Amino acid sequence: MICLSDNTIQSIFCCCCCCSVQKREERTQVCMSRNEELSEKYPQHRRQWFYELQKNKKSNRGCAQPSKRKPLPPLPPSEIIEEKIQVKALFDFVPREPCDLALKRAEEYLIVEKYNPHWWKARDQLGNEGLIPSNYVTENKITNLEIYEWYHRNITRNQTERLLKHESKEGAFIVRDSRHLGSYTISVFISARRNEEASIKHYQIKKNDTGQWYVAEKHFFHSIPELIWYHQHNAAGLLTRLRYPVGLMGSCMPATAGFSYEKWEINPNELSFVREIGSGQFGIVHLGQWRARVHVAIKAINEGFMSEEDFIEEAKVMMKLSHSRLVQLYGVCIQQKPLYIVTEYMENGCLLNYLRERKGKLRKEVLLSMCQDVCEGMEYLERNCFIHRDLAARNCLVSSSSIVKISDFGMTRYVLDDEYISSSGAKFPIKWSPPEVFHFNKYSSKSDVWSFGVLMWEVFTEGKMPFENKSNLQVVEAISNGFRLYRPRLAPLCVYEVMYSCWHEKPRSRPTFAELLQVLTEIAETR
Ligand code: ADP
Repeated sequence: MICLSDNTIQSIFCCCCCCSVQKREERTQVCMSRNEELSEKYPQHRRQWFYELQKNKKSNRGCAQPSKRKPLPPLPPSEIIEEKIQVKALFDFVPREPCDLALKRAEEYLIVEKYNPHWWKARDQLGNEGLIPSNYVTENKITNLEIYEWYHRNITRNQTERLLKHESKEGAFIVRDSRHLGSYTISVFISARRNEEASIKHYQIKKNDTGQWYVAEKHFFHSIPELIWYHQHNAAGLLTRLRYPVGLMGSCMPATAGFSYEKWEINPNELSFVREIGSGQFGIVHLGQWRARVHVAIKAINEGFMSEEDFIEEAKVMMKLSHSRLVQLYGVCIQQKPLYIVTEYMENGCLLNYLRERKGKLRKEVLLSMCQDVCEGMEYLERNCFIHRDLAARNCLVSSSSIVKISDFGMTRYVLDDEYISSSGAKFPIKWSPPEVFHFNKYSSKSDVWSFGVLMWEVFTEGKMPFENKSNLQVVEAISNGFRLYRPRLAPLCVYEVMYSCWHEKPRSRPTFAELLQVLTEIAETR
């Protein structure tokens, strides 16, 4: 169920019982479905905590009234886990606060308590306890593929090929999720042979009628690790045996949801400014460092440009949006003017410039992989009922490993400049907006889908301006008359069909991001 609530999501996610319900003029769309939480991977059984909390919160509100009933016991501060979960660290984590616990890659820990989906209390083997970011660990059981070095959960076919080509060793391999749900693909580097260039082979791992896994006929296994182990020692039908697992472990640290638990305000004395890296509608952006350790982007917000109080409330919520394809918000500095927004730093800057600067050099597969990245991040936002409202290539950033991440989600709600927020304003993104937005200001995940179609068009034109020679008024007229953007020269028909499907006049007839992700993966895998 989706409902419009006057509560901010913050009040729902707060794990203490004392938070007051914040009222904002702007209504926030909150998903009250069973899937609700702001976590990239958060299994169903863990969600129980959240619902129990909601139930308790409701009954607690009742407690404010004089009641003859026995008072309820105090609320637990967080989810206390009955059966302690064993985890393995995927990355090193250096404590940032006295309450944090250090993690050492590949070592084992026990999870004692889950404060929220992103910060858990863990115990190390010496009995030390403290908070850790949940995306730095994975459950330590043999059926969990994440504990194996060769497994990569979020990786496109193109990124796989880039990674293996970089390794360039016969038999270098990874295992990744297949486009068929619940199945996997082995990708392996094959060196140049007499008449053939080096290549990457992708083997689909299949299941037979009795539930056993196989790649080569005749060799069946009860589990994926057993299958991989066997093919590490025997080619048995593959072009090479699987010689070198290529891991991501420890190579690039993922961003954490804030610098530590519930810490959304950043002390400006802990920031140092390195250099200016850009300027936008909101103000100047600097590359900086937090505590001389973490690279960050610091956006100074021009005074009077934004409704700061409302934004600060929302920032607490946005920090809990955490996904590998979203630019992570770390926190805000509010004690001085201008206000600073501190986010994950993206070495390759804005996607639009990235495309324009590399014109003619990016292969179609790379362009498609960029669209897959954005679609994945948008699917996460859609799942969490969070609407971007200004999705475009200029609002996406590119990491050092060329992964595209979405930035500035939801930010337009706090802009005060009429030129930017009114559909008749010169800065309003008409060319990225569907009819229901420019006519009625009606935003939804489906209006984001329209914008995503335009973003795909930007990617496949290597950064052209959509409706290049048309004014905003002419675009409104053209779209209303059924006119749509043309097929970019680099876009195969199947890709154009995907972007075109995003531009259906009726929002309900446009695909969801979940559906788009499926189709894009299908295209990427069947080339
Ligand atoms: P605005 O949203 O105010 O228009 P942007 O977020 O687009 O501003 O930032 C302006 C420019 O600053 C971008 O085009 C990009 O080059 C740079 N920039 C912004 N955020 C980051 C970041 N997190 N990492 C690296 N560069 C960034």
